[in-house]
Amino acid sequence: MSRKKIIAGNWKMNVKPSETAALVKGVAEATKDFAGKVDIVCCTPAIDVPAAIAAAAGTQVEVGAENCHWKESGAYTGEISTGMLLDAGAKYVIIGHSERRQYFGETDETVNLRARAAIAAGLTAIVCVGETLEERDGGKLEEVILRQMNVGLKDVTAADCAKLVIAYEPVWAIGTGRTATPDQAQEVHALIRATLAKLVGAETAETVRIQYGGSMKPGNAAELLAKKDIDGGLIGGAALKAADFAGIIAAAANA
Ligand code: PEP
Repeated sequence: MSRKKIIAGNWKMNVKPSETAALVKGVAEATKDFAGKVDIVCCTPAIDVPAAIAAAAGTQVEVGAENCHWKESGAYTGEISTGMLLDAGAKYVIIGHSERRQYFGETDETVNLRARAAIAAGLTAIVCVGETLEERDGGKLEEVILRQMNVGLKDVTAADCAKLVIAYEPVWAIGTGRTATPDQAQEVHALIRATLAKLVGAETAETVRIQYGGSMKPGNAAELLAKKDIDGGLIGGAALKAADFAGIIAAAANA
C-alpha cells in the first residue's frame, strides 16, 4: 500500500521564539510545490509552538512539540500537557526521543504513558525507537527494538494507529554525521512493521508510517526514502536550515 511520506523537523533546544517565524516561513516558502504531496511538520520547543503556529497559518506546514506529559494538569512543574499543546494548535508531538531517554530518565513505560495520552487527546504521536552502538555491536538490536515497541506501544490499539508515527533513530547516527545505510535502515523498519503487526494486526501495521532519523540530509535522503518501509524522516540538524529541510522534502515528494 502507498503511505504518504512524512518529514518532520526536530528543532531540539535550538531556536528562540524570536527566530521561529523566519524559519517556519522559510520552510513554507521553500516547500510550496510539495503541499499535499508530503506531510511537513516542524516540531519545536514548547515555547516556540505559538509563534510556529502563527507563522505556519495558511501554509502546508504543520507544527508539533518535542514532548508532553501524560497527565492533563496538576503539580508537574516544568511539564506540558497534551491539552495545552492542542489548545495552542499543535498537531504532533515527538515521544521518547533518545535524548529524552539518555538525559531525562525517559523509559519505555513513560514513553507508553505519553504516547497513549497524546493519541487519546488527538495529537499524532511520533514515537522514537532505536539502539545504541553498544547494543548493535553487542548483537542486541532486535531485543532492544522489540522491547521498545512492545512496552512503548502496550495497549495502543489498531484504531489508535491513525494517530501514530514511529521513528527509527539509531542513536549512533543522531547528530554524528554517520547515517545507517539504506539496507541497514530498511532491515530495522521491516522489523518494526512486523512487530507492529503482532501488536495491532498486519493490515493496520501496513498503514503506519515509519520514519528514519539519524543524520538525514538532502544528499542521502533519496536513497533512504526509496526503501519499501521508509516512509519519511525525523530530521535534527538539517531541519534548522530551510533550504536543507526543503531538499529532504523534495526527495520525499519524488520518492
Ligand atoms: C534527531 O535528533 O531526531 C535527529 C535525527 O538528528 P540529526 O538529523 O541531527 O541526526
